[in-house]
Amino acid sequence: MSVRVRFAPSPTGMLHIGNARTALITWLFARSQGGHYLLRIDDTDPERSKVEYEKAIEESLVWLGLDWDEKANQKDRMDRYTAQIEKLKGDGRIYACYETPEELSLKRKSLLSRGKPPIYDRVALELTDEQIAAYEAEGRKPHWRFKLLAEPIEWKDHIRGDVKFHGKDLSDPVVLREDGSPLYHLCSVIDDVDFKITHVVRGEDHVSNTATHVQMFEALTDKVPDFAHLPLISDAEGAKLSKRLGSLSILDIRDNEGLEPMSVCSLLSRLGTSEPIEAFEQIQPLVDSFGFDKFSRGTPKLDPDELLRLNSKIIHEISFDDVRIRLAEMGLHDLDADFWDAVKANLEKVSDIKEWWEVAKGPVTPVIEDDNKDYIANAMASIPPAPWDENTWSAWTSALKESTGRKGRGLFMPLRQALTGMEHGPDMASLLLLIGPDKAAQRLKG
Ligand code: GLU
Repeated sequence: MSVRVRFAPSPTGMLHIGNARTALITWLFARSQGGHYLLRIDDTDPERSKVEYEKAIEESLVWLGLDWDEKANQKDRMDRYTAQIEKLKGDGRIYACYETPEELSLKRKSLLSRGKPPIYDRVALELTDEQIAAYEAEGRKPHWRFKLLAEPIEWKDHIRGDVKFHGKDLSDPVVLREDGSPLYHLCSVIDDVDFKITHVVRGEDHVSNTATHVQMFEALTDKVPDFAHLPLISDAEGAKLSKRLGSLSILDIRDNEGLEPMSVCSLLSRLGTSEPIEAFEQIQPLVDSFGFDKFSRGTPKLDPDELLRLNSKIIHEISFDDVRIRLAEMGLHDLDADFWDAVKANLEKVSDIKEWWEVAKGPVTPVIEDDNKDYIANAMASIPPAPWDENTWSAWTSALKESTGRKGRGLFMPLRQALTGMEHGPDMASLLLLIGPDKAAQRLKG
């Protein structure tokens, strides 16, 4: 049986880290199995779904390097849902209910206050023809529920192991609104059947939905797919991933944070698994090492610093050719391979290179405080002869330490200020080489 999976985002917002992880893991599983990856846009809610979000989600997936073999929009499949819904109505698996939202909410509250689970009481099944006619005459329109069978629901989850529910403990889900529009649950199952999905991979917030979906599958077909429910990620403190990183979209991570897609993929693919988190420059090794058996059930913690650490490692391996266009887009047309190779080991993000370029190439207004004038003159007098290499900075500053008795900040900061015009910035040993002897001498003269 060849593997067929889907990633099913709702286009009601941008793609965030949590959803991107589901997209990636589903993709890695598909690619590791030579399988088929469907991008299904869950846009049954016309008010909240937006084409801009759909486009942004696609752009995010492309940036992450996740391609899809097929795409479908739920809004284009309404006729198909209607046909299947009619079939289920005919089979008595979907029934009409006439409660108003207020009545339902009262029922819920009353059950909860008595310590009972808020399971729908199915009074709609007891309604007589006269009562229904009375409701209709009042102008009430029914919503429709799927009737669960009171029997065990069990599956072997690829991540959670044996999962057991019982139909009698679950509330019949609403599958059709008063206005006749179908809701996510049944549409999702109809799609999974039609697209012959073999494995449903999604977050563990869907586990109890899955229990009801299993019975919907059984009502529509003789095959129920496999399931894998991923634990949701939390931030480093164990809180729900809503703050900073959680609130960043993938496009923010690309455009505002300036991170590499492979740092995101490296982290998200290994988070919560038995494999170490490492920096990968290519996605293929992640495909080759993928296995659901490596995922644990615990809540993985996502540490933003880890993302930055991976990012710098990945940048250190990027060749000039791979980054040339991006540098040109940043306005750094003259930046060449020598400069890139000299600096890349010091960058956390590609955009950090701007700062290096500006201080190396100038123009720079040297800062020489009155108290340091003699010291800088001294430094000028002992400036090492060309050619310079990576030891020049330390040889020069050691000699100055000896001759002036200065140390620490007093030794280094005046030189940095004179050479770069700033109090902070890239590592001086590398920077000095990029400034070069001529410009350095000029700047020391003030
Ligand atoms: N649109 C649903 C969501 O974003 C899809 C869940 C599923 O994978 O079935 O949560």
